Amino acid sequence: MPFCSTPDVPLTAEEIARLSALPDGAHEVKPVLGCELESGHGGPHWAQAQAEDRGLDSITNWWLRWDETGNLRDWMHDDTCRADSTAGDPDSDFCLLPAGHAGCHSWAL
Ligand SMILES: [Zn+2]
Ligand SMILES: [Zn+2]
Repeated sequence: MPFCSTPDVPLTAEEIARLSALPDGAHEVKPVLGCELESGHGGPHWAQAQAEDRGLDSITNWWLRWDETGNLRDWMHDDTCRADSTAGDPDSDFCLLPAGHAGCHSWAL
């Protein structure tokens, strides 16, 4: 399955600075985000910009949720989808898209 091909969305300098300054940020913040869902999915687009990983499963996700009209552009803190590709296998991959996401799980993409 291909990824959603909606145009990438640029972050503002303020957003990049704020997300980069989070004390437990796990990622280097990218200046543009591309939707991580399946091509043709319903509802708004989602991309993860940052995650604050404080250990012991204490994680705050920073998802940008937007649509193509430009009316919707929100920061969300939804949990990640814990669907796993091969239940019970210690090497299995978790999906890690936003919980309840549209489209198929990331490991099926
Ligand atoms: Zn999308
Ligand atoms: Zn999933």
